[in-house]
Amino acid sequence: MATTSLSFLLSHPNPKPHPSLPSRRPLSVSVSVSCSSNGSGSEPAAIHYAKHRRPADENIREEAARLAPSSHGFSARYVPFGAGADTAEHYSLDEVVYRSRSGSLLDVQHDLDALKKFPGEYWRSLFDSRVGRTTWPFGSGVWSKKEFVLPEIDPDHIVSLFEGNSNLFWAERLGIDHLGGMNDLWVKHCGISHTGSFKDLGMTVLVSQVNRLRKHLNRPIVGVGCASTGDTSAAVSAYCAAARIPAFVFLPADRISLAQLVQPIANGATVLSLDTDFDGCMRLIREVTAELPIYLANSLNSLRLEGQKTAAIEILQQFDWEVPDWVIIPGGNLGNIYAFFKGFDMCRELGLVDRVPRLVCAQAANANPLYLYYKSGWKDFKAVTAMETFASAIQIGDPVSIDRAVHAIRSTDGIVEEATEEELMNATAQADHTGMFACPHTGVALAALFKLREKGVIGTHDRTVVVSTAHGLKFTQSKVDYHSGLIEGMECRYKNPPVTVKADFGSVMDVLKKKLGKL
Ligand SMILES: *Cc1c(COP(=O)(O)O)cnc(C)c1O
Repeated sequence: MATTSLSFLLSHPNPKPHPSLPSRRPLSVSVSVSCSSNGSGSEPAAIHYAKHRRPADENIREEAARLAPSSHGFSARYVPFGAGADTAEHYSLDEVVYRSRSGSLLDVQHDLDALKKFPGEYWRSLFDSRVGRTTWPFGSGVWSKKEFVLPEIDPDHIVSLFEGNSNLFWAERLGIDHLGGMNDLWVKHCGISHTGSFKDLGMTVLVSQVNRLRKHLNRPIVGVGCASTGDTSAAVSAYCAAARIPAFVFLPADRISLAQLVQPIANGATVLSLDTDFDGCMRLIREVTAELPIYLANSLNSLRLEGQKTAAIEILQQFDWEVPDWVIIPGGNLGNIYAFFKGFDMCRELGLVDRVPRLVCAQAANANPLYLYYKSGWKDFKAVTAMETFASAIQIGDPVSIDRAVHAIRSTDGIVEEATEEELMNATAQADHTGMFACPHTGVALAALFKLREKGVIGTHDRTVVVSTAHGLKFTQSKVDYHSGLIEGMECRYKNPPVTVKADFGSVMDVLKKKLGKL
């Protein structure tokens, strides 16, 4: 019952924030609030952080259970996408349901009135106080925002690999050298993550909910399945493995990178390699999950977006709750662009910030149905047959979340841009030359930025965030092909192939002198 800062972090937030609650000082926040809830009321003279070490035979999960809060008033439910708070159709998150009665997408709707009992400043301070700790489950960048994600889930049901809290990288040299002196350019490295893509953020939420359904509500769910362009399978497999849940992965044969294929194999998933494309895999898994009690982890699943939206909240937090002007996100199935919108808009609605950034969705020209729809003035949506692209995770012609994406773009005065294979590979290479190691999807977003800068849409001093969706190390083959100059029909203008030299001093010196002469 000792009210340490730790118990504050674990406990139900107090209805009234401490009046002198300072912002952006996590330790003093936790100490001062715990004092007030203790009744002593005064600000401590010296800030000291006195977390008592838990008993040696207790793990962090058990510690969280011991210090568990009493129940609170926050809640969330499934509603048809676009429904208001007064909708008659809604479902408990404990139901297994993927679409509304009319067949439309679902959305997780939070009880915003309950959350609004706390001012924005309160949420900012609470979230700031939890960043990067080991306290279960708040050490995770997703679960540090638990009240905005799955408010009702018991911490003991959560499956987390301490995802999130990813690097917001200041792209200093890229901005100076290639973007006309942009000085406020940032890359949100969502791919520097457990399985190497932002999919981890969504999967911790989905697998946590499945874990709760299986173990704690005894639902007959035999496992989790997904069709995937690669990164979803890797995330499903890792989170299911951690929770002892069987995973079933449907992959399009020969269309994903070796790194993406080997991840689910290594994590012990059942991997089916199918002679079709992503859309074909998706159709099959839907048919299979209609017959077998396998939980479907595809991106129509709205639980995942609740986790993914925390990347947007994290960006705001990393800017000390100042709102950037632009956020550029590569889009395929188009769930993530909506997730970002949802994160930003929830923070606006709850008073953590006062506006939302303009969103740019960047598509590969070889898989650009949203771009074409945007260009038609939102008149005419047509699914396309996606052609091959180095940005394989967004090679999707008939995106599940098209309506979600349109809502995100229109609500933020957003833009859709496209990038050809040459443009995306050149942008990737240019970024890499400034010290990054961007994946091709990030390349699509970077190419969109290059174009919007050229057109003068994005200004030199606009605070701009490019969302990097995967780690470049997952996509080394595309870089090898580019730097070898081996891509048919592509100039590979920025290639930097290795020099083959005889292993003797004279030959090595010749090469180096020639090189130094050029510098
Ligand atoms: C899944 C994925 C995307 C696309 O996200 P959507 O929500 O399908 O638009 C982009 N990049 C990478 C690396 C991905 O894994």
